[in-house]
Amino acid sequence: MKALVFVETTKGKIKEASLEAIGFAHQIADEVVAVVVGKGVERSLKGVGKAYIYEDDRLEIPLSAPIAKVIEEAQNREKAKYVILSATPFGKELGGRLAALFNAPILDDFTGYENGLFVKGFYSNKVFAKIRIDGDTVVLSPRPKAFKPTDDATEPEYVPLDITLDDSLFAAKLVDVKEKSPEDIDVTEADIVVSGGRGMGSAENFQKWIPALKDALAKATGLKVAYGASRAAVDAGWVDHSHQVGQTGKTVSPLVYFAIGISGAIQHQAGMRTSKVIVAINKDPEAPIFGIADYGIVAKWEDVLPELIEKLKGE
Ligand SMILES: Cc1cc2nc3c(=O)[nH]c(=O)nc-3n(C[C@H](O)[C@H](O)[C@H](O)COP(=O)(O)OP(=O)(O)OC[C@H]3O[C@@H](n4cnc5c(N)ncnc54)[C@H](O)[C@@H]3O)c2cc1C
Repeated sequence: MKALVFVETTKGKIKEASLEAIGFAHQIADEVVAVVVGKGVERSLKGVGKAYIYEDDRLEIPLSAPIAKVIEEAQNREKAKYVILSATPFGKELGGRLAALFNAPILDDFTGYENGLFVKGFYSNKVFAKIRIDGDTVVLSPRPKAFKPTDDATEPEYVPLDITLDDSLFAAKLVDVKEKSPEDIDVTEADIVVSGGRGMGSAENFQKWIPALKDALAKATGLKVAYGASRAAVDAGWVDHSHQVGQTGKTVSPLVYFAIGISGAIQHQAGMRTSKVIVAINKDPEAPIFGIADYGIVAKWEDVLPELIEKLKGE
């Protein structure tokens, strides 16, 4: 069986989540072909024998209508059984478009694959269903961080897609892009997420201590660490909404999730309960977060964070 994987790029840089999608594709298909779209795309792909490439100045930042057209062109040539793309915020938009275009069923945001069945959470991840999905073509969209990139170091042959995209495909215009600083890693892409909630008490506390733990963990582990927040912290204006984890924020599945001064309301859990290891620091032993935590510290964060950060720094 063949899989065609869409590789998402922004300003030419390949998303780590797309490499994970290629890793997943190797579990389900014996031949994996990629399609890369963007402007000035880096040639660093691994784990595929062939990669279609379409470069266009208008796609420096991804747009779904023209990119769907490019994928359609690659799919017309490959006739892959599986069309795969990561369930990033952009991937979620594009996935629906592709399913409609190919008249194919779609399964998005799943977190596991065992013996031909996909594992996907429902009701804010309170139950997990095992799902079989079939069709001549199937669109599959794994959740970022749920699968690992492949170890296969094969470098692809890049095949340019010589097509002209009609201006009408660019009817939706990108108006503004807010740049993040390079150290401001997105919560969905991080190996470790350090989140703070209302229990941090003030903007000053949040902005001092949550980044301090994030930086200490990044230094001590060499992993990608991001900071997140509960909605209460976002609503209080302590941190930008792009960091919110939960039902109306982002969904994360990091190796480790720290919940500090967060009660663990069901809407927050919806965005983080698939984390591999959950560490909670909360002064209330009855806080619901302890119901899903692997490690729990019943204490005021003021008594824990300074010492934890010192230990991480080796002081
Ligand atoms: C439709 C809908 C969508 C929502 N979407 C989201 C969402 O996406 N994300 C989200 O997070 N919420 C969401 N919510 C809100 C959610 O219901 C909770 O209100 C919110 O998660 C609470 O945030 P919190 O845990 O920071 O605050 P609280 O519930 O007030 O909890 C604060 C915690 O801090 C602890 N604490 C206080 N002081 C200290 C201290 N010094 N040291 C240690 N611990 C301390 C307290 O014991 C308490 O457990 C949504 C709600 C609705 C209705």
